[in-house]
Amino acid sequence: MSWLLTRLLAGVLAMAAGGVAGYLLGRPTQSPVLSAMLGGATGVALAALLDALRGARLMAWLRGPQEQQAPRDTGFWGELGYRVERSIRQREQGLAQERLRLEQFLSAIEASPNGVLLLDAAGQIVWCNTVAADHFGLDPQRDRRQPVTNLVRAPAFVACLQQGRFDEAVSFPKPRHDGTLSVLVRPYGEGMKLVLSQDVTDRERNEAMRRDFVANVSHEIRTPLTVLAGFLETMANLPLTEAERKRVLGLMQQQTQRMQTLVSDLLTLAQLEGSPRPTVDRWVALEPLFLQIEADARALSGGRHTLQVDHPTGVQIAGAQPELMSAVMNLINNAVRYTPDGGSVELRWRLLPDGGGEILVADTGPGIAREHLPRLTERFYRVDGSRSRETGGTGLGLSIVKHVVQRHGGELDIQSEPGKGSRFRLLLPAARVRVAQTADAPAEAA
Ligand code: ADP
Repeated sequence: MSWLLTRLLAGVLAMAAGGVAGYLLGRPTQSPVLSAMLGGATGVALAALLDALRGARLMAWLRGPQEQQAPRDTGFWGELGYRVERSIRQREQGLAQERLRLEQFLSAIEASPNGVLLLDAAGQIVWCNTVAADHFGLDPQRDRRQPVTNLVRAPAFVACLQQGRFDEAVSFPKPRHDGTLSVLVRPYGEGMKLVLSQDVTDRERNEAMRRDFVANVSHEIRTPLTVLAGFLETMANLPLTEAERKRVLGLMQQQTQRMQTLVSDLLTLAQLEGSPRPTVDRWVALEPLFLQIEADARALSGGRHTLQVDHPTGVQIAGAQPELMSAVMNLINNAVRYTPDGGSVELRWRLLPDGGGEILVADTGPGIAREHLPRLTERFYRVDGSRSRETGGTGLGLSIVKHVVQRHGGELDIQSEPGKGSRFRLLLPAARVRVAQTADAPAEAA
């Protein structure tokens, strides 16, 4: 209440000063008391006018944007201005902090790899991050305040919202039909909903691949097992002649061999997928590798094909010898198996202009139609299933080759046309190729 006393005191002082002045001025006249009263009233009026002016200045500041300082008066108006300004500034600071916190929170949600969509109690879009906008095909600005079910019409999603089934995620195709979304709805606040979306296209594809793989392996193993079981039953129940027994045992051996090759290829694939990439500091000489492969290929061909093999003297590849051996052997094996008798098979080495290297396996076999080329390296993909199985193929060879070459930083290139043979090229990067320059064994150039 001190401000009231001082203001009353100031009023009394103004009145007294006005009264004294009026009295002194009115003394020469007949009515000094009247002059004193008039003076007192004038003093009070002047004090009120001054007060009103200071109040008006503060009011003008309050009506404005309050960017400037409040008027720095003394006394009541000064203190009032100071206190109002301090409270405004504190609120502004609080608001700025809240805004910053909200922005940080929204940027954190924006950085989320999942889609986040906020719905109000009426199911209208309140906010969504860029990922959710992409997932649901929304425009974050334009679609704000739109009912989400008008824009995302997937029946599973609409049913989930309408029936309030929020306990498990629903999956449905992305609105742009380029994948699958898994969406979880969580209610919060008063009827509001948080919609979390995740792109599960890759996960579903991997899951489907895994299922196919298990089905394929089971099928590949079941076939020879069924044959073996049949032969065993025959041997157990029927009296066989020595010649028949030998024939059945031979066929059983073939089936066992088939399963062994399949299991061995599966193990090779598992090893390739589960082990670290071969380091760049282990150098494998290519010439002995080619010699070994040539010997194996000649044995496999049994003189039915013409074989032409380069001798990459001094060439070394950084990598794992068993993997490189397995990759080239798989290619040569295919070339010999698929090329009819009398055809020719080549194993070539070439140093590329950029310092990289090319191992080429070419044949004059039946060739492969264009539509099969992109799928050849898929596990168990065969162009001609019966030909592959007849010749002991597992359908895993080219996927092993692709894995090996990729682990060595290179790529597998396949060129083929029906009737014109096939060319399989292993392209290796310069960092993994080295050619020793010796006087008696000059390195091959491009
Ligand atoms: P497979 O064990 O069946 O040979 P691969 O993965 O090695 O399996 O090859 C996949 C398919 O590609 C084969 O089944 C075959 O149809 C085709 N193929 C591979 N190499 C050749 C080739 N040199 N000539 C013709 N077809 C080939």
